Amino acid sequence: MNYKKILQRLEKLLPNTWLYQVQYMHSSLLVRWILRRGSMPLTFSKKSAMVFSPHQDDETFGCGGMIALKREQGIPVVVAFLTDGQGSVGEDSEIKDKIIQIRKEEAVTALNILGVESSEIYFLDKVDGTLRDLEALQRQQTIEQIAELLQKYKPGEVYVPHQKDCHKDHEAAYTLVKEAIAQAKIEVELLEYAIWLFWRAPLFIMLKLQDIADAYRLSIAAVQDKKNRAIASYSSQIEGLPPGFIKRFLGSYEIFFKVES
Ligand SMILES: [Zn+2]
Repeated sequence: MNYKKILQRLEKLLPNTWLYQVQYMHSSLLVRWILRRGSMPLTFSKKSAMVFSPHQDDETFGCGGMIALKREQGIPVVVAFLTDGQGSVGEDSEIKDKIIQIRKEEAVTALNILGVESSEIYFLDKVDGTLRDLEALQRQQTIEQIAELLQKYKPGEVYVPHQKDCHKDHEAAYTLVKEAIAQAKIEVELLEYAIWLFWRAPLFIMLKLQDIADAYRLSIAAVQDKKNRAIASYSSQIEGLPPGFIKRFLGSYEIFFKVES
């Protein structure tokens, strides 16, 4: 590699590293504040749950502890992945298929560790990155698929990414599930989990205080080991995530927001 290339690389690397540090500091402070002052303890509920995850890993990062706690008590938990998790690997279909397969295997491994049986895991296989821009027909079909799952299991609780999670697939997942709940005409308690919200929302500007006002914290200390092992099984994903990002998810609390119906 010549000098110029090395320099170009460094230029690309430096601002990112700085950005990551700022994001890491901001996100750690925000989460610490939420856990210490800005949240109420969430009482563990024995209701069955259905978790909707845009990509293979969001469910474990956001809700892995909750899932493991419920499964240890034999409470039913179903997980549905909305996209195929191919990421942005370009057009090579062989590589794409391989990645999709790896992501699925990792998801099943992670969820098995958390106690979810393979028969309770669904892959809806929408193309990664397209949830917000689905064509009308495909969008309607997706909502129907979700509604069918809701009808089949009639969960007491539904977990979705936060409606302002600073990622287009995550925010679209919230909207799709919300519409599916209305279509399925079932009574559920809707809870949001945050993946990118604290990380990407720059210093409270985008993140209005009211959006984090109704935060709840669930102690997952009893199953932390399981969750960390489940996270580790997503080895193909972990490499691509910003340094420091994963750290928050290794803690002994999970943060949820209740959506008023
Ligand atoms: Zn995601």
